[in-house]
Amino acid sequence: MDERKVTISRRGVERLQRGHLWIYRADVEKAPAGLTAGDAVALVDGRGRFVAKAFWSERSKIALRVVTLDEEPIDEAFFAGRLAQAIALRTRIFGDERFVRLVHGEADLLPGFVADRYGDAAVIQTLVPWAERRKALLADLLTGALSLRTVVERNDVRVRELEGLVQVKGVVRGPPPEPVEYREGEVRMKVDLLGGQKTGTFLDQRENHLRAGEYARGRCLDCFSYAGGFALQLARRAESVVAVDMQAGAIALLRENAALNGAANLEIVEANAFDYLRDRSDEPPAFDLVVLDPPAFAKNKESLPAARRGYKEVNLRAMQVLVPGGVLVTASCSYHLSAEALEELVLDAANDAGRRIQVLERRGAGRDHPVLLGVPETSYLKLLFVRVV
Ligand code: SAH
Repeated sequence: MDERKVTISRRGVERLQRGHLWIYRADVEKAPAGLTAGDAVALVDGRGRFVAKAFWSERSKIALRVVTLDEEPIDEAFFAGRLAQAIALRTRIFGDERFVRLVHGEADLLPGFVADRYGDAAVIQTLVPWAERRKALLADLLTGALSLRTVVERNDVRVRELEGLVQVKGVVRGPPPEPVEYREGEVRMKVDLLGGQKTGTFLDQRENHLRAGEYARGRCLDCFSYAGGFALQLARRAESVVAVDMQAGAIALLRENAALNGAANLEIVEANAFDYLRDRSDEPPAFDLVVLDPPAFAKNKESLPAARRGYKEVNLRAMQVLVPGGVLVTASCSYHLSAEALEELVLDAANDAGRRIQVLERRGAGRDHPVLLGVPETSYLKLLFVRVV
C-alpha cells in the first residue's frame, strides 16, 4: 500500500466515476518525479482523497490505467485473483472449452493485457508497460492456473509503439508451440500461433461463425475470409461457397482447413475483395448469403471518412450481388466506427442500391470478449445480420 501518489483533476475523477479506466495526461495534476513506466500508483483527488490504483505510462497519451478502486496491494496475489476471475467467466460460459480468450484487457480489469488459450498453449499480448514488466509473472500465473505447456507472446502489434515498446513475437515459456487444431462446432480449424494473424486466429468471431452458418443455403460468399471461419460453417449447409482473401498466408490456411473438413463445395479465390465484388456486381445477383468481415479500415479518428467510404462500397456491392431476400452478414472491427454509424452506412448503401433492409440480429464479439460498460473502446466488433429485400 506504499504506492506513490498521483493527483488527478476533477475531470479525471469524473471520468473514472462514469466507469472508464483511463486517465489522459492532461488530467494528471501532480506526479512525483522518478516514476517509471509500469509503476503502480495511488490516484488521489485535489484534496488528497484516495480514488483508485492505476499503472503509470510514460509515453502514451493515456497516462494512467486504473486496475482497482479499492485500497488493496498490487502484488502477485492481486494478479492471480484477477486472472482467476477472468478464467471463471469463461468456465461459466464455455465449461471446459480449451480454446478461448482468457483475458480481454480492460474488459477483464487488466488494461492492455490479452491472453488467448489454445489447448495446452496460451498466446499473450502485453500492450502496455505494466504488463510488459510483469510478463514473466503473468505467464507463470497462467501456466500454473491452467497447467499450460507453452506461453507465446504475439507482441508484434503497432499499438505497442505508442508506449515505446518494441514489436516482438516468440516463446515466453516452455517448448515451441505445436501445430494447433480446434473445433468451431463441427468444423475443424488449424491455427498457427506464431505465424497466424492476431494471436493466431479470430476467436472473437467464433460464435458469429456458428450463427452465420444457420442462415446458409444456396450460394454463399465469404469476403475477407482469412482461415475460413465463416466459409466453413456456411459450407456445411450451402450448395456452394466462395471464400475471398488477398493474403497468401490466409489462402494457404483456407486450403488446409477446406481439406481438413472435406469441404468440396468451397471455392477459394485469392483476390482483392473490392475487385471481386465489383466484377460480380456487373452480373445478375447470384448469392443467397454474403459475409463481409474486413480488417479495421478506421485505425484512428482521422481515417474515419475514408474508412466509411470503404465500408459503404463493399456493403453496396454485396447488396448488388445478393438475390432478393438474401442475407448479409456485415462486420466492422473498427472501434472508431460506432454500431449506429455502421447501421447508417448500411442504410446508405441500401438506398443507393434501391433495396430495403430488415435487421435480423445485432451482434458483437463472442462472450469471451466482454464489453466493459463505460469503456467504449472494449466494444470494437459490431455485426449486423440483415435480410436484403
Ligand atoms: N473473417 C475472418 C477474419 C478476417 S480478418 C474470420 O472470421 O476469421 C480480415 C482478412 O481480410 C485478412 O485475412 C486479410 O488478409 C484480408 N484482407 C484485407 N484486405 C483485403 C482485401 N482488400 N481483399 C481481400 N482480403 C483482404
